[in-house]
Amino acid sequence: MVDQTGVEIISIGNELLNGRTVNTNLTLICKKLTISGVNVLRAYTVRDELKEIVDVLRFVLEQKTSSWIITSGGLGPTHDDITLQGVALALGRKISLNEKALEMIRGRNAELILTDARRKMAFLPEGATPLKNPVGMAPAVYLRESETNIICLPGVPQELEAIAEESVLPMIKRDAGDFFFVEGILWVQGLLEADLAPIILEVFRERPEVYIKSHPKGEEFGIELSLTVTTRHPDSSRELVSKSLDEISTRVLQASGSISSRRIVNHK
Ligand code: ATP
Ligand code: MG
Repeated sequence: MVDQTGVEIISIGNELLNGRTVNTNLTLICKKLTISGVNVLRAYTVRDELKEIVDVLRFVLEQKTSSWIITSGGLGPTHDDITLQGVALALGRKISLNEKALEMIRGRNAELILTDARRKMAFLPEGATPLKNPVGMAPAVYLRESETNIICLPGVPQELEAIAEESVLPMIKRDAGDFFFVEGILWVQGLLEADLAPIILEVFRERPEVYIKSHPKGEEFGIELSLTVTTRHPDSSRELVSKSLDEISTRVLQASGSISSRRIVNHK
């Protein structure tokens, strides 16, 4: 694997662990980062409890596996939104009223009374920078601890997506440099996954930089093969993926299988 910027994601919320809410925020961040050429290395889910948040953050920071940590959830006005308290505690920083964050909250709607619940969203760990939330009240937060960048995003999916697009992805992409994600897709019918396995292994051995993943979709639909490369050189990598697609196709036909679709995906 190429030496790349890694990202770890911590999803925070009881609703994710009691099955009420599907963790779509995680999928969304993983997808957007992957197609930008950035690897998500690990993801964790914890409850809205101070000890849980502090423990997982300290653990991830100690591992030093990734240069970016993204948290989602728990930035809102309710008493159980305690992500920033957890971050402050984990880093040994005080939490205090951040004037810029307060301005952002005021700026959302000048007619709203600045209640304690709204002011709560402007209390950030010391040294943190608020990031504009273009669709909701709670600003996101950026801070740096030694070599690690930490970003805290609100849990509401529309807010998380807007902030990710506007602030977070550009920051991480700038840090990661020019990496690209190239993907080829092949749909195979008439072979069982176990019969396809030796074909995949042969082609992978010839060109190990192309990662091949099979997704069996049931007898009716066949098997979807995804061939991916994360690369600094998209043109030559597209050629590599194309060659691997050709080689798998040839071997599938030799084994009396068939191909219903073959394409290089244009992610964006
Ligand atoms: P709020 O201002 O709404 O309190 P918040 O940052 O505190 O924002 P949460 O309270 O954690 O966010 O969650 C707000 C909403 O977003 C809830 O409906 C929750 O179910 C949903 N949500 C939280 N985390 C996720 C997630 N990882 N994936 C999808 N939905 C989520
Ligand atoms: Mg909340």
